[in-house]
Amino acid sequence: MPTVHAIPAFSDNYIWALIPDNENRVVIVDPGDAAPVQSFLAARGLDLGAILITHHHPDHTGGIGALTAEYDVPVYGPARERQAIAGLTARLADGDQIDIDWLGCRFDVIDVPGHTIGHIALVGGGMLFSGDTLFHGGCGKLFEGSAGQMRASLERLRALPDDTSIYCGHEYTLKNLQFAAAVEPENADIAARIEQVQALRDRQQPSLPSIIGLEKRVNPFMRWDVPDIRRAARERHGSDLDGPDAVFAVLRQWKDDF
Ligand code: ZN
Ligand code: FE
Repeated sequence: MPTVHAIPAFSDNYIWALIPDNENRVVIVDPGDAAPVQSFLAARGLDLGAILITHHHPDHTGGIGALTAEYDVPVYGPARERQAIAGLTARLADGDQIDIDWLGCRFDVIDVPGHTIGHIALVGGGMLFSGDTLFHGGCGKLFEGSAGQMRASLERLRALPDDTSIYCGHEYTLKNLQFAAAVEPENADIAARIEQVQALRDRQQPSLPSIIGLEKRVNPFMRWDVPDIRRAARERHGSDLDGPDAVFAVLRQWKDDF
C-alpha cells in the first residue's frame, strides 16, 4: 500500500500525496495549487506520476496546468461535471476503475453528486478520497446538487467498511464538530473527538484521516436516520419532517446558518 501525506494548500485545503513503497513516483490528489506540490516533490527528490481529481472547483484543480507543463502525466477526473476541467486525460464515472500499475492499489470510482453534480469519490486500498463530499464531521455545501442527492451519495460512502480511512479536501473538522455538538449536545463521542482534534490542531497536525466508523458516530450528515438527530431536525424545523431527505435538508440548511 502507498503511504499518504498531507500537503497543506491555501488556508485550509489538503492536497494528498500517495507514495508507493520502492518508488520515486507520487500520485497527487486534488492539486489546487502547483507550488506546494512542487516544493514537496523537490524536498523529497520525488517525481510526479499521476494526478487524480475529485471535482471541478479551482481549489482542487488550479495546479493541473503548471504541474502537467512540467511533468507529462495522466490526469484522471470526473466525466460528468457541468464545468469542463482543463487537462484531464481520462474522464471517469461510477463503476470505472483507476489502475496505476506502479501504485500498489486500485481505485474504484463512485459518483457522489451534491457539492457538484459530477463529483466523484475514489475508493481503494482501504482508503477513501472524498474531496468536498464527506468531511470529517461534516459534508460539502450543496452548490449544484440537492439534499437528496447528497444524502444518497453519503449513504453509499457510509456503506464502506468502518475502518476505511477518509482523506477529504479541507481541514474543517473543528467547526464541523462544533456544529455536530450543537445538534447532539448529549453525544459523548463528539465531545471526546473535539478534544482530540483540538490537541492535534494546537500542534499544527491534520485531523485526518478519519475513518467511516468514527463518522457514523460523530457526523450529523451520516446520521440522518438516528432518532436524536431526527428529533433535533424536527425541532429546528418546527414541524414534522417527511422522510430522510427532508431531515438531511434541514441539517444542511442549519449548518449553512450556523
Ligand atoms: Zn469544492
Ligand atoms: Fe474545496
